Amino acid sequence: MNENDILRRIGQYLWRQDRIVSEAENGNGAGHAECDHCGIFTIPTPHPIMGAWRDISYSPVRDKIWSVSEGIYRSIFLEGEKGVIAFDTLTTPGTARAYAGAIGRVFPKKPIHTIVYSHDHLDHTGFAADMAPDADIIAHRLCAEVVAARKSDGQLPATEAWDGERKSYEIDGVYFELLYPGPTHGDGNIAAWFPQSKILFMVDTIIPGVGYTFFPDWHFKPYVPSMKRLLSLDWDMFIPGHFWITDRQGFIDNLEYYDLMADFAQQAIIDGLDPHDWDSVCRYTEEKLSASFGNLFRFHEYCAMNLSRYMQTYLTGGWGIEGNMHPNTTPF
Ligand SMILES: [Zn+2]
Ligand SMILES: [Zn+2]
Repeated sequence: MNENDILRRIGQYLWRQDRIVSEAENGNGAGHAECDHCGIFTIPTPHPIMGAWRDISYSPVRDKIWSVSEGIYRSIFLEGEKGVIAFDTLTTPGTARAYAGAIGRVFPKKPIHTIVYSHDHLDHTGFAADMAPDADIIAHRLCAEVVAARKSDGQLPATEAWDGERKSYEIDGVYFELLYPGPTHGDGNIAAWFPQSKILFMVDTIIPGVGYTFFPDWHFKPYVPSMKRLLSLDWDMFIPGHFWITDRQGFIDNLEYYDLMADFAQQAIIDGLDPHDWDSVCRYTEEKLSASFGNLFRFHEYCAMNLSRYMQTYLTGGWGIEGNMHPNTTPF
């Protein structure tokens, strides 16, 4: 260990001690360093934004299914006979604790015994250690492998990794199926289908409005065909990982956005737009795309970023194996 490592370790130690004291003084934590995790941050600086408590809204959806949101992120939890099955951990250590707190208000006598990971990203599944450190954790194998390799502080490894495209679960009296339709976003991103309730839940794919920023970790080539496979299942309500609940038509309309954006991006390159000239990309988006997309949620914030990313895809050829897969398009 060199001098810098020693100083870093001392800094981390002092920071953790400081947090323990301040949480004990403020009465807003159990006083354990374990209740706040650093993700993949390496600098020993306090991260108040990561630990901050977030207000969570929650409501029953259908049958044993509840939905939770802190305004931007959304997830679901299920009422079992003895405990609760929660999907994801929401977005930070503070949000994960608030999510557990919300479940505790709805079912004060039912512990969270199972967490299902939607996909590998820390902002959805990074903080089981803050939410329910003893829970069983179910993830698709492709997700579980990334989580195991990442070793992020707070993202607990899967205790059960499942393989293939489809697996049914009956846990604590609740039935659901997990489906892996192919590469869409992140790694091992699954949908959860509740056939009796006619609900489909999936994260970071269908999101109301235009696409999220520059489409981080989206795999465009297999994305739309993989997502369309989920239309072969019987459901009429779609719960996304962000913003509000939609239906089959909202799902179909959202996928069409990707097809249209693919065409716009090719046309923009043909028109001579330089994707590195940000002012021009923004101007082109306002001039050429607002007639089609101007009424969509977050058009003015994200649409130029969406266009730029699609242009880069056509110029570079898509990224990695996931971005070049020929997906299975057979119905489920
Ligand atoms: Zn994600
Ligand atoms: Zn997300």
